[in-house]
Amino acid sequence: MEAVLDELIAALRCLPGVGAKSARRMALHLLERDRAGARRLAVALEAAVDTVGHCSVCRTLTARETCSRCLDTGRDDGVICVVETPGDVLAIESATDFRGLFHVLLGRLSPLDGIGPEDLGLDQLEKRLQDHDVRELILATNASVEGEVTAHYIGEMAARHGVRATRIAQGVPTGGELEYLDAGTLAHALSGRRDY
Ligand SMILES: [Zn+2]
Repeated sequence: MEAVLDELIAALRCLPGVGAKSARRMALHLLERDRAGARRLAVALEAAVDTVGHCSVCRTLTARETCSRCLDTGRDDGVICVVETPGDVLAIESATDFRGLFHVLLGRLSPLDGIGPEDLGLDQLEKRLQDHDVRELILATNASVEGEVTAHYIGEMAARHGVRATRIAQGVPTGGELEYLDAGTLAHALSGRRDY
């Protein structure tokens, strides 16, 4: 096959769950049936990769220095929900009426993999606890072993600063990833949170 086409098929395989066969089907679809869609995809991808970084306050994905959530004065800035991924932020906002602020860890504590507190922006989070009037820190890490260890570590940080920490209810299946939960389960997990 053509080198350009081979490269497109190979490139599409960087997507999660896309093997050789799906990549081939996608490439042929784009070239044979939807060139406008293909062009739009290429432009959007390039723009996103060039401009999207992490918020200087909460670390979620944004094309700006500080994300629109952190700048939104209509939010309750006394509650910070701590999650593992930007996908968790989107899942919580679409499944619940939570309109506080977030801290996105972009991972979880894992000493064996060399991931410590500094990799999760916890110095940043601690500074927010010091500088702002935070009433509650919601620990919404996953129910995996590492997620629990991470929650415990942050819970102790909250205690040191006299901030109330709560943990989302464990209707969340053990090891379950927050962002893949159905909306009802996630809403219950958040509304049923308990003091940690
Ligand atoms: Zn932000």
